[in-house]
Amino acid sequence: MEYINEILEKIKKEKDGKFYEATSAFLNSISNYIEENEEIFRKKAILEKLTTPDRVIQFKVSWVDDNGINRVNNGYRVQFNNALGAYKGGLRFHPTVDLDTLKFLGFEQTFKNALTNLPIGGAKGGSDFNPKGKSDNEILNFCKEFMNELYRYIGPYTDIPAGDIGVSGKEIGYLFGHYKKLTRKFDGTISGKPNTIGGLLGRNEATGYGLVYFLNHIMKKDNFDIKDKKILVSGSGNVAIHAIEKANELKAKCITASDSNGFIYDENGIDIDILKEIKLIKKQRISEYVKFVKTAKYFEGERPWNIKADIALPCATENEINKNDAMNLLNNGIKYIAEGANMPTNNEAKDIILNSNIVFLPAKAANAGGVMSSVFEMSQDSNYIYWNFKKSDDMLKENMEKMAESIYNEKIRSSCDYQTAANLIAFKKVVDAIIIEGI
Ligand code: NDP
Repeated sequence: MEYINEILEKIKKEKDGKFYEATSAFLNSISNYIEENEEIFRKKAILEKLTTPDRVIQFKVSWVDDNGINRVNNGYRVQFNNALGAYKGGLRFHPTVDLDTLKFLGFEQTFKNALTNLPIGGAKGGSDFNPKGKSDNEILNFCKEFMNELYRYIGPYTDIPAGDIGVSGKEIGYLFGHYKKLTRKFDGTISGKPNTIGGLLGRNEATGYGLVYFLNHIMKKDNFDIKDKKILVSGSGNVAIHAIEKANELKAKCITASDSNGFIYDENGIDIDILKEIKLIKKQRISEYVKFVKTAKYFEGERPWNIKADIALPCATENEINKNDAMNLLNNGIKYIAEGANMPTNNEAKDIILNSNIVFLPAKAANAGGVMSSVFEMSQDSNYIYWNFKKSDDMLKENMEKMAESIYNEKIRSSCDYQTAANLIAFKKVVDAIIIEGI
């Protein structure tokens, strides 16, 4: 523990709260392994190397709004670690974006990407620009100015950004268009592109579908059939909708869905076509669902964790399962929790869950389908071809199952929980690469 504590003390002094929390949780979860190898890790400064970003790029983004007023935002790219492959990670446009957040996300991304078994390193970037309430023209202006700086640091074999909060198809299109103008290259530098400009069919579905492929593989190992199992799902965005769709296809019964106002519950199972119509086409609130399905109920201002079921899939947002929610899940007979969202379970809740009989499948692995299919997109683009949906979905399933198998085996080998097993695999991979490359 001495080595870990020294490193964490150093990070604490930098006053990066989120980064400290992430590094501390990660290193402490695998402290036994680090202690066993302390001598060699110290000699090679492994923990220093793993907790220091390779490069932090920060730049001014100066743009003009629709009233002719000049605006200035901060732009960032944290290239965290490329031991396993080119830097890869999303861009986030949100007022809360700062260096601490991006360092923490870049650190996490490095290990998530390591778990995919694909050749990618970790990065994260973005800006404190808020696209909400901005006109199309303002978003275009901002994206152009952002890319005027970023293009120097990215490339198909160097660093491949993607979308994240506030950066979806529209922003990606503008960013890619301007990258192309500046470099005169039509290459796979940005993933998550619309299909017309090199995007991958199946990318939209990948995180939700991947979550269910991963969960189902682990459940099969336990001889637990997903068929007829009741599932609580939170959220009704990209991840939630596609998780419900895939779970329904496997004959499970998803009985809840939610948005930030409340949740719907139907003992008979959520009708995915009606949910898609409301959320994706009409872009209405989830409360509208009960107007179409008479057996469904709507609970304003509540979360769906106090209902009897077998499985919970938090697919909405950060910290949506707290201590009380964890107790409710436990008391309601939940046997599996698989995280579709990033960090949906807070630390207090995690402590309760990890000390119970619930099987906990962490986001780092369970929602890695998105980044996996981004690598398929990079591959597709560098081959100058378009893959069909089936090809992309088959690759996703195969790779999610391969990852589940390796985490399951590590869990058995190290007699630990899935979270520790995932952290161990990812850590060992990145460390191996650092040692092999002598970097
Ligand atoms: P969307 O924006 O499509 O959907 C988010 C959903 O969560 C919406 O239904 C939203 O409701 C709900 N929500 C947001 N904030 C809250 C809140 N405070 N309380 C309750 N519900 C809330 O996002 P995605 O589905 O794409 O992403 C969901 C999560 O998954 C995020 O954590 C994201 O980082 C993570 N993720 C997504 C990936 C992807 O490929 N899309 C990849 C890996 C992780 P409302 O409409 O009211 O805001």
